Amino acid sequence: MIAGGVIGITTAYWLKKLDADVTLLEQSNTLADGASFGNGGQLSYSFPDALANPAILKRLPLILLGMDPAIRIRPTLDPDLIRWGIRFLRNCKLAKSDEVTLRLFDYTARSASLMQEFASGEDSTFDHRTPGKLVLIRRGDVPGASRISQLKRQQGCDIEVVMAREATDIEPALESWSEPFDAAIWTRNDGSGDSN
Ligand SMILES: Cc1cc2nc3c(=O)[nH]c(=O)nc-3n(C[C@H](O)[C@H](O)[C@H](O)COP(=O)(O)OP(=O)(O)OC[C@H]3O[C@@H](n4cnc5c(N)ncnc54)[C@H](O)[C@@H]3O)c2cc1C
Repeated sequence: MIAGGVIGITTAYWLKKLDADVTLLEQSNTLADGASFGNGGQLSYSFPDALANPAILKRLPLILLGMDPAIRIRPTLDPDLIRWGIRFLRNCKLAKSDEVTLRLFDYTARSASLMQEFASGEDSTFDHRTPGKLVLIRRGDVPGASRISQLKRQQGCDIEVVMAREATDIEPALESWSEPFDAAIWTRNDGSGDSN
């Protein structure tokens, strides 16, 4: 196995459980020193939503100008980047992004059950909790969130869109939340863990 981030380590762990002879090769002196180090520890199995979707097209100018808070792409004339960009844009269609999201949900549902198995075992030493997750949204996002939530429910995901009052009943700390929100996407099976 090459690479000692969360993906390499957990792959090695499960292979070892299957009695495989595993050697992990990591270039750095520390394990989980790359992207895994910065991890926020959210276990968001209910949100494997495809990045390529129609909504992202509106953000494209800011992304290309380096002004999007979450996504950075450095535009270059690299043919690989151009090919990838064309494929990405072609996938920004509702039907395609639904298809990819639901396909990915099959993986995250499997991940969730493996995590339960891991967290209940004696090897687990990280602070695993499953309090659920609330994603706050504005009124204009409610129809889209309800639509994709319904599709995910058909795949067995425990997800619903609740109005602001109900979200505050679920998480009373929202009573003093200063940013306006009208509704929330509420998922009961998402959790968190201390990734460090
Ligand atoms: C700020 C931040 C917050 C995040 N928050 C979340 C979150 O809340 N929830 C979530 O699910 N995801 C989150 N992510 C994403 C998540 O952390 C990454 O998807 C995940 O850590 C990727 O793991 P990895 O093992 O693939 O990569 P890495 O953790 O980057 O590991 C790759 C490893 O490979 C090693 N390596 C590379 N080349 C070689 C080589 N040739 N030989 C040997 N070793 C090599 C590197 O040194 C590194 O240790 C976050 C990411 C960031 C940056």
